[in-house]
Amino acid sequence: MNPERHARTLALLRRFYGYSSFRPGQAEIIDAVASGRDAVVLMPTGGGKSLCYQLPALLGEGLCIVISPLIALMDDQVTALLANGIPAAAIHSNRPEAETREALEHARMGRVKLLYTSPERFVADMDKWARWLPIHLIAIDEAHCISQWGHDFRPVYTELSGIKRMMPDIPVIALTATADRLTRDDIEQQLALRDPFRWTGSFDRPNISIEVWPDPGKARRIARVRELVEKYPDDSGIVYCLSRSKAENMTRALRLSGIKAACYHAGMPAGAREEAQRAFINGDVSVVCATVAFGMGIDKSNIRWVVHNNMPANIESYYQEIGRAGRDGLPAEAVMFHSVGDAIALRRFIDESDSARRGINTEKLARMQAFADAAVCRRRMLLSYFNEEKTHDCGNCDVCRSAPERFDGSTVVQKALSAVLRTDCSVGAYMLRDILRGAQRHDIRSRGFDRIRTFGAGADMSAAEWNHYISQMIQLGLLDVAYDDGNRLRPTPFGLRVLRGEEQVMLARYDDRKPARDSRRKETPAPTSTTEALLTRLKAVRRAEAARIKMPPYLIFSDASLKDMALKRPRTLEEFREVSGAGEVKTARFGPLFLRAIAEFG
Ligand code: ADP
Ligand code: ZN
Repeated sequence: MNPERHARTLALLRRFYGYSSFRPGQAEIIDAVASGRDAVVLMPTGGGKSLCYQLPALLGEGLCIVISPLIALMDDQVTALLANGIPAAAIHSNRPEAETREALEHARMGRVKLLYTSPERFVADMDKWARWLPIHLIAIDEAHCISQWGHDFRPVYTELSGIKRMMPDIPVIALTATADRLTRDDIEQQLALRDPFRWTGSFDRPNISIEVWPDPGKARRIARVRELVEKYPDDSGIVYCLSRSKAENMTRALRLSGIKAACYHAGMPAGAREEAQRAFINGDVSVVCATVAFGMGIDKSNIRWVVHNNMPANIESYYQEIGRAGRDGLPAEAVMFHSVGDAIALRRFIDESDSARRGINTEKLARMQAFADAAVCRRRMLLSYFNEEKTHDCGNCDVCRSAPERFDGSTVVQKALSAVLRTDCSVGAYMLRDILRGAQRHDIRSRGFDRIRTFGAGADMSAAEWNHYISQMIQLGLLDVAYDDGNRLRPTPFGLRVLRGEEQVMLARYDDRKPARDSRRKETPAPTSTTEALLTRLKAVRRAEAARIKMPPYLIFSDASLKDMALKRPRTLEEFREVSGAGEVKTARFGPLFLRAIAEFG
């Protein structure tokens, strides 16, 4: 890279952001864009994409337009930029018209470096802005939304394809956390980028531990969430649910068990949604139970854990959602629960969706299910999905920590399949489980299933165990689910061979002790060192200041910054500037406050 520009870029990085070095790819991308080249950037959530267009904007004279699909994201980014002393503004439908006019006027005068806007607004005003504003760079965030291949296609994004025709000389940088090449090529083509600089960062997020549970039942789910809340008392987490009602139920259950939880889904009134988001950002609640609508673009660096209460529809969504935890690089946890019911519900969504996308969505769901059921290192599997090779097991997923024991499951399968046949293949997974367990269910009796020979034949195993095994039977291709016919089960030819004793099948043993053992190992450590005690103190100072100035705590300083501060223990403002994340403006504004706290701490 051009050495003079490199030196200037580093100086800006230190001055405005308080960082001393670039993350992988950032310097190269900034250099390419600043020299006028188009770029396509694939980096995982938390990889540091924002700097890739913010620094070129600071280097140049003109204005950078940032197209972003989410209002919450825009406002968050603008607040963060302003806190670092970088002039920025956002234009979107929630802003009063007068403010918008003013922001545009400032942009025209060169008094704004970054102008955030929605794709709708940009498309509507593109030709006017091209003539009127001193645009030097266009950044398209969440660029996968332009692609039919992506998992989050938004039609309005396709209208961005006219940019290069209208403004051929202005570089365009497209950024996404979606990793597959098909999507990347599609982005390039649709935007008609010219010989773009391509960067694909590693999607590995080794700091996030991964854990997957075949349906452990409601009590266990709550207990696991409670463990996480207790383990990270100062931080927060997200519980993703498949539907609005599930999110509401989960919120209620968590509150009943004494956890401060908020609910967030698209069906709530806008005011209530904003309130939930605000409570989460300010740390007034430690958990948000949400549908996928939540969290996109929330750059809250102290999200320590993400729980999927249901299986997501595809691996892209899953990876993006768990990526919201541990953005600061400190240890974080991802826990997923899944059940046969999830697979059935997701299948139904697909069947009800646009027929053109059914094939690809079915394929994506199959890959997700395979991930859930896998008995190999989860991270290797994820990275191989994103075409990234990893030659070692990660050591930080449930499979690596304790591979499930395999056993000859033929007898278990025979019990289940013979029960299925005796009901004339007329029951779904949950009724099958209850028949095997000999449950007293009204509908079982009324249909006479309490009189078949296999009624109660599996009473020695818990409901959770049966859920686990029936789900495996489906995944292994022993049982077929008639998704179009009440989700009834029927044995496949392979299943019938096992039933007749002609073939053997191995199952992964249900590990009942998993949560208990994990919780023993993960007990909250008491602050052992003075550094940790100081960190706790600094967090309290941050919380109080955040409440006073009404700003989200993580926008004052991230956890990573506070940790660095506790380690370095600066005594002077000059030393304070050495703390990661302490740029010029934040040092002047917050430095004295934290220095005082450190001095008082001794
Ligand atoms: P993305 O948009 O890719 O999800 P962000 O741009 O929000 O990621 O960056 C994630 C976090 O990492 C932010 O808190 C950001 O300030 C921090 N960060 C980015 N670049 C650096 C760097 N070079 N050094 C230290 N921290 C960085
Ligand atoms: Zn692993």
